[in-house]
Amino acid sequence: MRYAIIGGGAAGCTLAWHLTRNGREVHLYERERELGGLASDIPFGQTKLDRFYHHIFTSDLHVQAFLDRVGLTEKLHWLDSSVGFEYAGKLHPFTTPFDLLRFSPLSIASRFRVGLSALKMKRRESYEDLEDVTAEEFIIREMGESAYRILWEPLLRSKFGDRYREVSAVWFWGKVKLRGGTRTKSGSGECLGYLKDGWGQLYRRMGRQIAERGGVLRFSQLVTEIRKTGAGLLVRTRQGVEEEYDRVLVTPSVPTFLQMTPSLPGDYKAAASKIPYQANITVALGLEKSLSPYYWLNITDPQSPFVAVIEHTNLFSDPDYGDLIPVYLSRYLNAEHPLYQMRPSEVRELFVSHLERLFPKFQREWVKQFTFSKADYAQPLVGLHYSQNKPSFDTPIEGLSLCTMVQIYPEDRGMNYSIKIAEELLRHLGELKSLSA
Ligand SMILES: Cc1cc2nc3c(=O)[nH]c(=O)nc-3n(C[C@H](O)[C@H](O)[C@H](O)COP(=O)(O)OP(=O)(O)OC[C@H]3O[C@@H](n4cnc5c(N)ncnc54)[C@H](O)[C@@H]3O)c2cc1C
Repeated sequence: MRYAIIGGGAAGCTLAWHLTRNGREVHLYERERELGGLASDIPFGQTKLDRFYHHIFTSDLHVQAFLDRVGLTEKLHWLDSSVGFEYAGKLHPFTTPFDLLRFSPLSIASRFRVGLSALKMKRRESYEDLEDVTAEEFIIREMGESAYRILWEPLLRSKFGDRYREVSAVWFWGKVKLRGGTRTKSGSGECLGYLKDGWGQLYRRMGRQIAERGGVLRFSQLVTEIRKTGAGLLVRTRQGVEEEYDRVLVTPSVPTFLQMTPSLPGDYKAAASKIPYQANITVALGLEKSLSPYYWLNITDPQSPFVAVIEHTNLFSDPDYGDLIPVYLSRYLNAEHPLYQMRPSEVRELFVSHLERLFPKFQREWVKQFTFSKADYAQPLVGLHYSQNKPSFDTPIEGLSLCTMVQIYPEDRGMNYSIKIAEELLRHLGELKSLSA
């Protein structure tokens, strides 16, 4: 059986890794010159840093199993996180339950109500009865109007832009449950996992093992078309490769998949293209000085061009970063938004100017490194009745399967779940023999 895998991110690497372990003939097509996709890295100091900030939760067992398989477990560090919340220009600590109880923008009664509802949500196991409820309706019902307006509405808006009111309560529940479950030993703080030297090395190691078993990694190959040809499927790339396979497994976004497969029936296309995505801009700065004591700072100011400041060394510091402090500024937005069309130099000016407003001590001379990244399909919007709308692995074209981020549900997208759905697809195809290392 000859397989083509399209995309070399977490999902594509997982598919190719297991299939080559089963002795299958595998060709992996990746448009970039490296593996990792959204979890790839950039040079920083003497080492590498994630292009987009990445950490894992204690419950992310699928990604931890892969670290083990490729011999990287020793480099995984479990660290105490620190979260801040900017509200009306003031920074509030927001890591522990005590921080919530001290969060002055909410009344005391409202703080208790938020804490109790979060506990209730963490204990909740089923989500089916939330499928026809929006996050907005659910939060107002459970936590009250002021908690919604002050805490959650800005966070939902920061992730989903103008469409935030369409987000399902299931997405919100999944987020609170996952994040709330990743606690320090004392249970009071948040515990996050980070891989020294960045997550990109996980996918490079997987790639090395795939190649050692005879898998072929085709870099800088942008797949433009997949077409049925008699018994097989033809894969065509912009760079001129044309090759036939028995099975093709596609991992990039749904719009990318639909572009590659013009022969798919119209009703399938119409259903698959219903799920909207948010794009993301992330700027990774190398700063001379620290901005705040927080790893993760949520920004609620509607005038701010970014929605989170992620000061990486407040989670994980490494002498290999040299004298510079890696700080990410992130913005989710619709790909049509004017900010998404800006040149990197314009984004730099806008973001740095806003940092000056947010942190009066900050000076633009502190910025010694600037890396601009954007992703068209960074976050699917999980709307109402999502279980009925998400596309299945099987497509109307025999031998062609889809394995992409939008199929992750009820959890939110993440490396762990891209690995998990890839393993689910292999099980579905009868190709997952054993999960032991
Ligand atoms: C800002 C941001 C922060 C994140 N933070 C975290 C985090 O803290 N923890 C976490 O676990 N996850 C995080 N994620 C999510 C995580 O990065 C993704 O869920 C995961 O990496 C997705 O892997 P994937 O293989 O499903 O998709 P992708 O990584 O998107 O892989 C798809 C691959 O297909 C390739 N491709 C696309 N089109 C073509 C084509 N035509 N031909 C050939 N190749 C093609 C792409 O180059 C890419 O390599 C974050 C994502 C973003 C954007």
